[in-house]
Amino acid sequence: MKYDVTVIGSGPGGYVAAIRCAQLGMKTAIIEKYDTLGGTCLNVGCIPSKALLDSSEHYHNAAHTFKTHGIELDNLQVNLKQMIDRKAGVVADNVNGIAFLMKKNKIDVHTGVGSFIDKNNIKVTDKDGKETKLETDKVIIATGSKPSSLPFIKIDKKRVITSTEALELKEVPKHMIVIGGGVIGMELGSVYARLGAEVSVVEYMDSLIPTMDSTMGRELKKSLKKLGFNFYLGHKVTEVKGTAKNVTVKAENSKGETVELNADYCLVSIGRKPYTEGLGLENIGITPDDRGRIEVDEHLKTKVDNVYAIGDVIKGAMLAHKAEEEGVFVAETIMGQKPHINYNLIPGVVYTWPEVAAVGYTEEQLKEKGVEYKTGSFPFKASGRARASMDTDGLVKVLADKKTDEILGVHMIGPRTADMIAEAVVAMEFRASAEDIARMSHAHPTYTEAFKEACLAATDNRALHI
Ligand code: FAD
Repeated sequence: MKYDVTVIGSGPGGYVAAIRCAQLGMKTAIIEKYDTLGGTCLNVGCIPSKALLDSSEHYHNAAHTFKTHGIELDNLQVNLKQMIDRKAGVVADNVNGIAFLMKKNKIDVHTGVGSFIDKNNIKVTDKDGKETKLETDKVIIATGSKPSSLPFIKIDKKRVITSTEALELKEVPKHMIVIGGGVIGMELGSVYARLGAEVSVVEYMDSLIPTMDSTMGRELKKSLKKLGFNFYLGHKVTEVKGTAKNVTVKAENSKGETVELNADYCLVSIGRKPYTEGLGLENIGITPDDRGRIEVDEHLKTKVDNVYAIGDVIKGAMLAHKAEEEGVFVAETIMGQKPHINYNLIPGVVYTWPEVAAVGYTEEQLKEKGVEYKTGSFPFKASGRARASMDTDGLVKVLADKKTDEILGVHMIGPRTADMIAEAVVAMEFRASAEDIARMSHAHPTYTEAFKEACLAATDNRALHI
């Protein structure tokens, strides 16, 4: 079989690259080692986690806020099996949708592990060991990432688990220890805290979601504390011991003081590492860097001509929409077009409640770069819409250039900020000033008014409702 382009890996990077290649008239193949398409994101990442976040949020509201809304329920119970089954249904709908898109775009799907024989020949080995050879002009590597761990932690997948197992638990933990205060830990910790688990977070850094603007980590901590989270920030995990029924975690702070935590589950969520196992990179002379990433140039081309790499397997934020942008970028580059990606404007979101969403520079980055900036913020407790829905935690913070007023960063924590951040991305892509947004009408009452108000605050402290 001969193809113009062969994509290895069918996550959001790979399947989007394949669709765009096919749209541009290239004969395209995609190779996926698992039986279902969609990669981490659709099978064990973005989609199933959001399905469980939604279900657990419904339960939490029914248990804690419905009464205030004047809705009374008796005998409220969690049916975890049904929640997990619904999640599986959502995943199935999504992965089947990708199979449909492959057919619609006449992309050949090959199931099995793809590995380089050389740069123009790829071997696909299926579960039964049957091999198929594909000849190809170009290759796009989109093999993604896997959860990472620490050398002394044994992930037994029963008591000491990763995000993949946390999406499939058969019982609500009594106590879940979450190692790592990043996005995945806070999201999955929220799911089980809402369902009644005690959740304890052990994080090495002094703040949660440490790569985001520090105001966000501070505010998120306050909200998650209300949900019952315990925090051990600035604590280094020194030991994790799992038995058939429970887990013990030891951690130490900078003063050398030790804490010992006992729980029935421990979720290890300290990040993800690029995945290139079995890909046969050595056969084309590529060695991943010291963090396991495939190095690429500004066209996302590897050091081998006609071989490109995208998504989690290369540098940059490990996000589905970043992988998708890169998929389109490479397809168009191969066709001789001149696409662009503004990496500074890839938004980042944490789907806790309140949600956290951000784009552009953090205040810490602006300080480090020596950029003169001004800030404006607006708390959701002053928003009529937020009061109506009882979602008053959080704020919107806008950072703008002190002289030109151009928006340099927007950081939001509050209701539906995952959706609200899109307005900030558009504004920044068109290089809007805070004043531009402050002069635009925002429907009342909406959460988006908080962004306008924060922009008013950033321009001569003119917020109207605070
Ligand atoms: P992947 O999605 O990892 O796909 C790679 C695919 O390649 C896999 O299917 C793998 O089986 C296949 N593969 C690997 N090697 C081979 C081979 N040799 N041959 C054939 N196939 C191979 N991101 C967001 O933007 N928003 C979110 O809300 C979000 N939530 C997340 C929640 C969780 C719990 C997790 C774990 C991740 C989440 N992410 C989220 C991150 C997101 O899933 C990844 O950034 C994204 O999936 C990366 O896409 P990718 O195409 O690079 O790789």
